[in-house]
Amino acid sequence: MGERQPFKMRQARDATGLVVSARQIGQKPEPFTRPLRCPYCEHEVTAQPEQPRVSTKGKAFTRGAHFALAKEKEKGRTAEHLAGCALRTDHTLHAIARRSQGLAELGPRYLQTLWPCLR
Ligand SMILES: [Zn+2]
Repeated sequence: MGERQPFKMRQARDATGLVVSARQIGQKPEPFTRPLRCPYCEHEVTAQPEQPRVSTKGKAFTRGAHFALAKEKEKGRTAEHLAGCALRTDHTLHAIARRSQGLAELGPRYLQTLWPCLR
């Protein structure tokens, strides 16, 4: 898992409030109205069409269509969901687990602390 890997999203919300799926990316005419936003916050996202890629080991693969957070305007800042966004929570939990030096790890749906006294 890459540290700086921006979150890939399967869904986004278009300018009219319609929820669109990554499967709709690339359809002509485009079945959604830009700008697109995260389904859970006001952060702008971009539609990334399915794309043939070559891995670092030289193996060809297809990167599936998805939505990605639009880059922050300020340089050096990682794009992040706005406060209160359900997906940002996810991001935050990952960050806590990474920095806990093994005291906490990410369960399938929640953060588990390995110290019983912290539960
Ligand atoms: Zn969000």
